Amino acid sequence: MTALFQQLPSVDKLLKMPQGEQLISEFGHSAVVVACRTLLVQARQFIQQHQQLPTNFLDFERTFAALQQYLQQQNQVQIKAVHNLTGTVLHTNLGRALWSEESQQAALAAMRQNVALEYDLDEGKRSHRDNYISELLCRLTGAQAACVVNNNAAAVLLMLATFAQGKEVIISRGELIEIGGAFRIPDIMAQAGCRLVEVGTTNRTHLNDYRNAINENTAFLMKVHSSNYQICGFTSAVSEAELAELGREMNVPVITDLGSGALMDLSRYGLPKEPTVQEKVAQGVDLVSFSGDKLLGGVQAGIIVGKKAWIERLQAHPLKRVLRCDKVILAGLEATLRLYLNPEKLSERLPTLRLLTKSVEQLRADAERLKARLESRLNADFQLQIEDSLAQIGSGSQPMERVPSVAVTLSEKTPQKLSALSTRFKQLSQPIIGRMENGKLWLDLRSVADIETLLNTVDEL
Ligand SMILES: *Cc1c(COP(=O)(O)O)cnc(C)c1O
Repeated sequence: MTALFQQLPSVDKLLKMPQGEQLISEFGHSAVVVACRTLLVQARQFIQQHQQLPTNFLDFERTFAALQQYLQQQNQVQIKAVHNLTGTVLHTNLGRALWSEESQQAALAAMRQNVALEYDLDEGKRSHRDNYISELLCRLTGAQAACVVNNNAAAVLLMLATFAQGKEVIISRGELIEIGGAFRIPDIMAQAGCRLVEVGTTNRTHLNDYRNAINENTAFLMKVHSSNYQICGFTSAVSEAELAELGREMNVPVITDLGSGALMDLSRYGLPKEPTVQEKVAQGVDLVSFSGDKLLGGVQAGIIVGKKAWIERLQAHPLKRVLRCDKVILAGLEATLRLYLNPEKLSERLPTLRLLTKSVEQLRADAERLKARLESRLNADFQLQIEDSLAQIGSGSQPMERVPSVAVTLSEKTPQKLSALSTRFKQLSQPIIGRMENGKLWLDLRSVADIETLLNTVDEL
């Protein structure tokens, strides 16, 4: 074994060889040293376990090829682009909404240059970073003012911390939700230092339940949109309009965590209806919070719209400084919101809406192309079919509703081959992510951002 260890080159020797110098000029001295050391450590472990040299170290050509590969991999960003064929258009694990062309341009410009972020160009004095977006949001939603933070979870935390610290928040038992990723309404309440007062029952809550719970320590009445579940059967919930009326009567404000927060009525496009921000504002809710990267189809942000005096207090809270957005996100969000000023063009320009409104005929044509391309690459281990599929919006929008779609399904003729193929899909330069259902691998076309690059990726198989 000692003889084998002695056959390994020293780091110094590798660095001084012409191929080593070549690597240094490409990747830099420090990185090449780390690469040599890493590969040598691995080689020593291999020798200990197998009493032979690893193939990497059989000759210098292989050693330098391995070093080159290691260094290239180190340089590659690990947050990789993937092809989303899950059929879930807004997939939280895959990064939710795609940015529109316009928002990408705006964000890129903000990255490269200084921007008048907190500077009023007309007055030549300091201004507020949420100003541009606030104006737009008021125009679009009918609210008086707006506040933008990191995400909707942050928006909820900020509302609770600003107005309800040491006080009580009344909420229906049917709305004590968990969104996933440790966002639970009771936990957020505890973080914000407020006391949760549950009213009603899991399936039914009435206006009187809220009324009876109000006392001098009540900060507000809260509604939470039941994003990712539905209570069916013998149910009853109090609408925002009724709650707002009670709030006015008792002088207690009403806030809503709307989750997805659509800015347009999806039923216009034949899609399942999701409550809009405008509706909640019109119903008299004092503050409405929602995400920027769900149905709005923009960037990760949490948006709060509502009464001016309330928004001013949110803006003045120290947590706002902690949770604020940077110039790139604000530029991307502003550009996204500007698309809504031209609703007729929205389904062309906003990728989320473009995907959701694609016709089934178009998806079928895409599926034919994908199937043909896969067939030319795969052997007889699999059976390929084009099948009707049911896609979903995702990110807690209309969890029970499905959007008609088309998928290429793969079933195995040879046992064990399908999971191996699914793994192979994930090892492609741009991994292909489908969904396993009823023993088949479903490649759903509804959530595919770009069919041409998908077909090119399939060619790698
Ligand atoms: C998604 C969602 C949240 C969390 O929003 P993020 O933007 O992911 O922080 C909070 N509340 C509801 C009702 C949601 O649907």
